[in-house]
Amino acid sequence: MTLLDGIKVKKELLNELKNKIDTKNIKPSLAVIQIGNDSASNIYIKNKEKTAINLGCKFEHIKFKEDCTEKEILDKIDELNNNNDVDGILVQMPIPKHLNEKTIQNRIISTKDVDGLTDINVGKLINNKKCLVSCTPQGIIKLLEESGVSIPGKNVVIVGRSKLVGKPLISLFLNNDATVTVCHSKTNNLKEFTKNADILVVAVGKKHLITEDMVKKDSVVIDVGINRIDGKLYGDVDYENVKNKVSLITPVPGGVGPMTVAMLLCNVNTVYKNLNNK
Ligand code: NAP
Repeated sequence: MTLLDGIKVKKELLNELKNKIDTKNIKPSLAVIQIGNDSASNIYIKNKEKTAINLGCKFEHIKFKEDCTEKEILDKIDELNNNNDVDGILVQMPIPKHLNEKTIQNRIISTKDVDGLTDINVGKLINNKKCLVSCTPQGIIKLLEESGVSIPGKNVVIVGRSKLVGKPLISLFLNNDATVTVCHSKTNNLKEFTKNADILVVAVGKKHLITEDMVKKDSVVIDVGINRIDGKLYGDVDYENVKNKVSLITPVPGGVGPMTVAMLLCNVNTVYKNLNNK
């Protein structure tokens, strides 16, 4: 077994990006809107801010109270859309229940949508057109590429069909000529699918859902799950027992997670280049 090391690949990607930013003497900027005070969101935003600032990017953290109106958020997004000093815009999820997630996400102009969640970017991805792609799925493909895993012709099984991870992954793998199967909570006999996977991606949110008997020998396993139990992090894959059967596997933490923030900053830089014709 070899580790698919997200921390190492993240460092390499960000070093490369920092060199470009320093050489060109530019300052791409990212604006993050937070609604409410979700504790996990606070950690994720701090992480994004730290990474952005270390790279030499501008970072703006815009906070709204839990009981704010949808109009206040939409007005702020309009303002950021029209502000030439702002490149990437994202709204940190989850947002309070009284707000419409789709309406808010789609208000971000697609050219600044660094989370790749607007209908325009999702549609372009399905049609294999150039677009901003959701960061976690993009990070998974990058991690495989950087680790020398060839995708064309591979039998890929994705467990989970969320719009953030599973669905964009379907298009990314198909666009890379893989044969793709998608499983979800209504799939009968999950093991029959997972044990045939050359590349298995699990994005469910259930500790150790995937056990040793469910994976194919010498396959590649990508564990997206983050399950925080009694202050400890667990993936969706029973890592200790699966690792000796497969050829490559991501640890949790230290696999997919670091790639997500790296791809976000890559997206911010792409937006800067596109908006400034560089
Ligand atoms: P989500 O929106 O809750 O979706 C979970 C998916 O898993 C759904 O499609 C669901 O099926 C499916 N599912 C639930 N139980 C299942 C079962 N027993 N067997 C097979 N499929 C099952 O979750 P998400 O946003 O994609 O996140 C998934 C996990 O990844 C979470 O732990 C999250 O914290 C983590 N995550 C990590 C990163 C990172 O950067 N590392 C980024 C995003 C998410 P249905 O569609 O039928 O309900």
